[in-house]
Amino acid sequence: MKTYDSIYVDGRWRSPRESAFLEVENPATEQVIGKVPLGTAGDVADAVNAARRAFPAWSRAEVDERLEYLSRLRDVLAARHEDLARTVVAEVGAPIGFARKVQAGLPIAVTTSYLEMLPAFEFTERIGSSTVVKEPIGVVGAITPWNYPLHQAVAKVVPALAAGCTVVLKPAEAAPLSSYLLAEAMHDIGLPPGVFNLVPGLGAVAGEALAAHPDVDVVSFTGSTRTGRRIGELASRTAKRVVTELGGKSANLILPDADLHQAVTTGVAYAFLNSGQTCTAWTRMLVPAAQYDEAVVLAAETAEGHVVGDPLAEGTALGPLISAAQRQRVLGYIAEGLAEGARLVTGGAESPEGLHVGHYVRPTVFADVRPDMTIARQEIFGPVLSILPYTDEDEAIHMANDTIYGLAAAVWSTDLERAQTVARRLQAGQVQINGAEIDLCAPFGGCKQSGSGRELGRYGLQEFLQTKAIHGAGGH
Ligand code: NAD
Repeated sequence: MKTYDSIYVDGRWRSPRESAFLEVENPATEQVIGKVPLGTAGDVADAVNAARRAFPAWSRAEVDERLEYLSRLRDVLAARHEDLARTVVAEVGAPIGFARKVQAGLPIAVTTSYLEMLPAFEFTERIGSSTVVKEPIGVVGAITPWNYPLHQAVAKVVPALAAGCTVVLKPAEAAPLSSYLLAEAMHDIGLPPGVFNLVPGLGAVAGEALAAHPDVDVVSFTGSTRTGRRIGELASRTAKRVVTELGGKSANLILPDADLHQAVTTGVAYAFLNSGQTCTAWTRMLVPAAQYDEAVVLAAETAEGHVVGDPLAEGTALGPLISAAQRQRVLGYIAEGLAEGARLVTGGAESPEGLHVGHYVRPTVFADVRPDMTIARQEIFGPVLSILPYTDEDEAIHMANDTIYGLAAAVWSTDLERAQTVARRLQAGQVQINGAEIDLCAPFGGCKQSGSGRELGRYGLQEFLQTKAIHGAGGH
């Protein structure tokens, strides 16, 4: 049991204004494994004030000085890699191998990418006779979800600090423990007081207070589209910048000349990543009608090969869902799929065999899904894949784009030129061709109701910078 009774404000661990706590559950054992304070609006205000006081000195520090801190941060995170991975396993239920590689590995890799990128970043630009300077925007309110809790915190905090901003982080209720390890790391590297602050708490209380606070200059938010809209409303009252990374319903478009086996097996794995609790999960597989039956059989076989169970056991592909409520939500979608006439080819609403404790859901595949069905339209956030047939390329592209979301997509074809052409016609922030790896320096984000922010690399850095044009300063 990990009990944290402090919040991290102004470079020190201090008591919250009220002593109420949030319990953290291990979704595999259903045991309470930790407690963190329920931060209040007053705690958020204290943290924002500390960040505001720290901003002038931090924003004027040389880039080399900021790099030095971030380099130490990377080293501390790397030294605690196993601890970070096990903490995320405990609070999220992600399988240990995946947690080591992605949940803990990615934040370290992202930090490293900024160490490599920052020295070459041009903070000053000449336009005609003017000088354009890119300056840190100010105090950042970072609000993060639970599915990749450490990665999402680091993908905001590291570029914000690199830009010269100061930060208040409000982690998700369900998985705040890894953010405590991040705060410990910030303390260990001797970051100046107030540059990084951590206040956990409820979205409706601490989250709203942070989004609405007049002294916060930018809210960087990752989470559901619904919450993103609310944050936009709150932030608009002080006309602050809002950077949003929201939900998705991503299409995996398999063209007729694709390697069907590779496309389907990789596609299933992507749909079930982190038990399907991944914003970019390819949850709609679009298959040419002529290859449909073959693809459905292959997808079902692949799904059945995904071992569900104890996230700490090697070989587990799917751990539990985050909570009983999330499991109920996902089972509701499975019931709705059946009621609307989709064909269940594997999985379903019963608990996986032998797993009576933990919020487990069977890897589930639906065939004969029509584009207007609920399971084809709404983000399920569980291991549920819908397979839809199409007749020609134009129809497939129309189906892929026929959604309020626009986060990610995949295209499979042996003709790379054709794949590129299709990729350009897809409304999505990123498209992976033939399962290509994502480059950590390329921008990550969405369009339409998946949000408009960008994270990672220099595009991620720019979200925390504002431009100032200085005219008449001559050539320097
Ligand atoms: P959520 O929107 O419920 O919560 C996200 C964060 O917002 C939490 O910290 C929560 O406390 C806070 N919050 C909730 N209500 C708030 C309010 N009224 N004001 C301010 N803050 C508030 O989302 P979740 O359930 O934690 O995460 C799942 C969602 O996140 C999914 O929709 C998923 O697609 C999305 N997501 C998007 C990305 C991306 O990069 N686009 C990445 C991961 C997850």
